[in-house]
Amino acid sequence: MEQTFIMIKPDGVQRGLIGDIISRFEKKGYYLKGMKFMNVEKSFAQQHYADLSAQPFFAKLVDYIISGPVVAMVWEGKDVVLTGRRIIGATRPWEAAPGTIRGDHAVEVSRNVIHGSDSVENGKKEIALWFPGGLAEWKSNLHPWIYEN
Ligand code: GDP
Ligand code: MG
Repeated sequence: MEQTFIMIKPDGVQRGLIGDIISRFEKKGYYLKGMKFMNVEKSFAQQHYADLSAQPFFAKLVDYIISGPVVAMVWEGKDVVLTGRRIIGATRPWEAAPGTIRGDHAVEVSRNVIHGSDSVENGKKEIALWFPGGLAEWKSNLHPWIYEN
C-alpha cells in the first residue's frame, strides 16, 4: 500500500496539536508505520526542502523548521499521499478549507503546522531521508473493517 511522509512542524508541536493531527490520520483509516520526535540539523532541513532552495523564502523556511522539535511520521493506506494532502489543506492557510488541519489551525503560510509529501515518488524519497533505518512492520486487526481487500 501507498505511504506518505508527514511532519508536524515546530509550531504544531509548540501549540499542542500533535494529538489532534495523529488522531485525524488514525481515525481516517491510515496506519502509522514510523514516528520520531526530534530536532533537525540545518543541513538536514536544507536537504528536505532542496527543491525550494531557489525560493526567496528558503532561508526563513529552514530557520523555521529547525526552531524546535518536529514529529516525523510515515502513514500508510489507500491513496494516502493525495488524501493526506487533502486532510492537511492548502499550503496557504487562508486558502485551506475549514475542516482541514491548516484550515482549522493555521493563519500564516510560514507557520502552517504540517508537511505532507506531494507525490508518491517524493514520499519515497522523504521516507528514505527521514527513516534510513526502515519502518515498523505491523498489520492492524481492523484492516478488513476499513478496506475491502
Ligand atoms: P506544501 O507542500 O503545501 O508544504 O508547500 P510547498 O512545498 O510549496 O512549500 C513548503 C513550505 O514552505 C510550506 O508549507 C510553507 O511552510 C513554506 N512556504 C511556501 N510558500 C511560502 C511563502 O511564500 N513564504 C514563506 N515564508 N513560506 C512559504
Ligand atoms: Mg511541498
